[in-house]
Amino acid sequence: MRKRVWVDSRVVVEVRPPWIPRKGQEEVQHKNACDEVVASVRRHVDNVLSVARSDEYASVCEFCASPWTEDSATYNGGCCDRDESNNPSPEAP
Ligand SMILES: [Zn+2]
Repeated sequence: MRKRVWVDSRVVVEVRPPWIPRKGQEEVQHKNACDEVVASVRRHVDNVLSVARSDEYASVCEFCASPWTEDSATYNGGCCDRDESNNPSPEAP
């Protein structure tokens, strides 16, 4: 039978996104905001062994930005017309 055991505890800090996001700069702005918090924690917070920015990425369709759901790197199940044009085995009309 499965048993749940304690392994570790951590503090998770969510950084406020930029007040005025600039189109196309959201990633850089948010990373910079995170780096500022990391620097502040290093300066002002006691009992911290380490602190670092952690980036998370997601796979999406390059054409319509739908979440990537398929194992294929070139075809996402037909999430949009442009993705469907990459269907390796299109059905006959
Ligand atoms: Zn798509």
